[in-house]
Amino acid sequence: MSKDKKVVEKKSEKKAKEINKNEMLNKNNLSMEKLRALCNNRGFIYAGSDIYGGLANTWDYGPLGVELKNNVKREWWKFFVQEEKSAVGMDGGILMNPNVWVASGHVAGFADPLMDCKDCKTRHRADHLIENSKQGEGVNAEALGNEGMEKFVLDNKIVCPLCGKINWTGIRQFSLMFKTNRGVTEDSASVVYLRPETAQSQFVNFVNLQRTSRLKVPFGVGQIGKAFRNEITPGNFTFRTIEFDQMEYQHFTRDADSLKDYEMFKKKAMEFYVDRLGLEKKELRFKDHAVLCHYAKAAVDAEYNFPFGFGEIGGTHHRGTFDLGNHQRDSGKSMEYICPVTNERFVPTVIESSHGADRITLAVLANAYCEENLGTDDKGNVDMRVVLKIKPEIAPYKVAVLPLQKKGLTDKSDEVFAMLSKHFMTTYDDSASIGKRYRRQDEIGTPFCVTVDYETLEDGCVTVRDRDSMKQERVKIVELVKVLGNKIYECWA
Ligand code: ATP
Repeated sequence: MSKDKKVVEKKSEKKAKEINKNEMLNKNNLSMEKLRALCNNRGFIYAGSDIYGGLANTWDYGPLGVELKNNVKREWWKFFVQEEKSAVGMDGGILMNPNVWVASGHVAGFADPLMDCKDCKTRHRADHLIENSKQGEGVNAEALGNEGMEKFVLDNKIVCPLCGKINWTGIRQFSLMFKTNRGVTEDSASVVYLRPETAQSQFVNFVNLQRTSRLKVPFGVGQIGKAFRNEITPGNFTFRTIEFDQMEYQHFTRDADSLKDYEMFKKKAMEFYVDRLGLEKKELRFKDHAVLCHYAKAAVDAEYNFPFGFGEIGGTHHRGTFDLGNHQRDSGKSMEYICPVTNERFVPTVIESSHGADRITLAVLANAYCEENLGTDDKGNVDMRVVLKIKPEIAPYKVAVLPLQKKGLTDKSDEVFAMLSKHFMTTYDDSASIGKRYRRQDEIGTPFCVTVDYETLEDGCVTVRDRDSMKQERVKIVELVKVLGNKIYECWA
């Protein structure tokens, strides 16, 4: 190793030590506005149909966003389906026979309690009006029921958050399901719904899934897919959208085991968030449902502490035999399982582990955001670094290839890119100074930068720079895939 390189390494180590001291200082210096600006400017998430003035509560994922969300979904599939002996996956259609939504109870009851402000003509969810007001601090609105919520809003003189007036209509139930028509006519016979949750495909296919997989109860089925809800309340960026990806696992079990299994899935959800995605445990909490559905023995939401406060990212729900029982009743088809050992016949109880890919992706971004003070220069300018400390396995790009100079290094850098990109999502950047390029990669969460310099042409080594510690080390190109693979993946073979 050359003398110059040793100096660079020493300096980077010293800096790394300082950073560890300062690391958490500005961790929470984050607002939703700042996060949204970073996402928009760096290519994570853009406002939907922006050039036409947008469409409320819709967003498009850009080059980095699609990588990040896909990684979240892949990790979920790995954890819930791939690594589970008694689990299989499926991919159901978005459009289903409308009778599915009658049996599931969505046609009759999937609605939000809304109150209109007669002055500014805006519509608000009554539970949100209460819980976001000073008067409603600590109140569990859902538990009040519709009449109670309406009374609470009027008695406590809760004002419209948009115009500040108090001129409310009563509560009206507003269906969250998007309706459309198939075929050429628009009569009620042609109505179809965009699914408001993915779970029903697992339920209506229960017999197919069990028969073809030959799994014995207890077993589970995972599914990832789009769901649609006609949400009218402002969304807190991608937290509340009208189109979103759900990752839902339905566990079919015996009623006698169901509470034990429910606890197991509660624990599993936390493991997924903390161990697999790197969310900080102290920013997560469970919140039991205040009101249980008549068929449920237990239900809990998992919440993450976003810059706007705690918000639900997933849930573990005991659904009893409600779904399979209703489909059996309405379709006339048996949903029973026959135990091959005891010959007992029964409709299994379901434990659902449900997760929102968009909300979790947002939590990963908020969780990863850090502002680090790297010190002050002679002129008193503070050197701030914005870095997304995303778990390497989940990060959009795993590695960036950076030729120190364009001149004479492009061919070698192209060669390194071609080699790495076969194994890892890799990016390439040869514009601006190396320092600026490192910062660019820090800001999008790339865990490793590989710099190709003139010495590379002689010694076949590159400099690998670690995003979090900023430490640098020389690595032989022939060993680069192995070295990076071990750093990025916990179980790299
Ligand atoms: P909320 O109370 O916030 O409306 P929910 O209890 O209706 O949510 P579920 O029906 O349990 O949500 O859906 C499972 C998961 O799907 C949620 O935990 C969440 O992560 C995600 N999800 C639900 N609604 C939305 C939405 N409008 N936008 C984005 N993700 C959503």
